[in-house]
Amino acid sequence: MFDSISELSAAIAPVIQYHKIDDPSRDARVRGGFTPPRRFKRQLTFLKHRGVVFYTASELIEHYKQHGQFPLNSVAVTLDDGWQDNYTNAFPVLKSLGIKATIFIVPSCLGEQSTKAVAEGEGVRAHLSRAQVREMSDDGIEFGSHSMNHRLLHELPADKVLFEVEEAKRQIEDLTQKECRTFAYPAGYYNEAAQKIIAAAGHIAAFSTIYGPTDRFDLYGLNRIEVLRRDRFIFQFARKLAPLFATRGKAGNDQ
Ligand SMILES: [Zn+2]
Repeated sequence: MFDSISELSAAIAPVIQYHKIDDPSRDARVRGGFTPPRRFKRQLTFLKHRGVVFYTASELIEHYKQHGQFPLNSVAVTLDDGWQDNYTNAFPVLKSLGIKATIFIVPSCLGEQSTKAVAEGEGVRAHLSRAQVREMSDDGIEFGSHSMNHRLLHELPADKVLFEVEEAKRQIEDLTQKECRTFAYPAGYYNEAAQKIIAAAGHIAAFSTIYGPTDRFDLYGLNRIEVLRRDRFIFQFARKLAPLFATRGKAGNDQ
């Protein structure tokens, strides 16, 4: 089904994943998901200077579906959980650099302080408000689904997965008045049943981070490159993203 070029591009979509664009809160024992705003800006500026073209997640997938491969030198910036810092800290950076991004939100958390998506041992944290989502959406930020309640889909019976998937999509579309086309699995977990439900609901792709096939391409099990707090220096960030730029479009030169 795939030619050698798309096989080379199979393992990782050119999609990077962030969580919180903030300094770690004092009670945070798990700090990996925090990227300080200045570092976020430095990383994206680095990519911009490299000539990277930024896409939303769904634009990238559409391109793949039409051409059988991802565009060269492309990146989609994604942020999971829809934290309020995405508005206060990430949005100004994205705006000033003219960079598109996709934020995967949990509709039941909007406007709330919640523990539904925090790391273990962490207290409540503020999510985006509905007004903030609308403002960002009007400005070109894409909003994808991160399920209705951030429950781990591989642990739920089919009827609950169906609700988590369909209700989230409906509420996001209601809010943005745009189609919600992409999905990110809460904590990255999925199974085949969840993949089928997400596809049937009308999403064009679903993203994980922690696992996914590395030997074939699965639009409903796409890996992303997770940027963590320990990626402190630009050379670490560049090294982490190197696979994106080393292989795509260069059949037979995959190292
Ligand atoms: Zn999450």
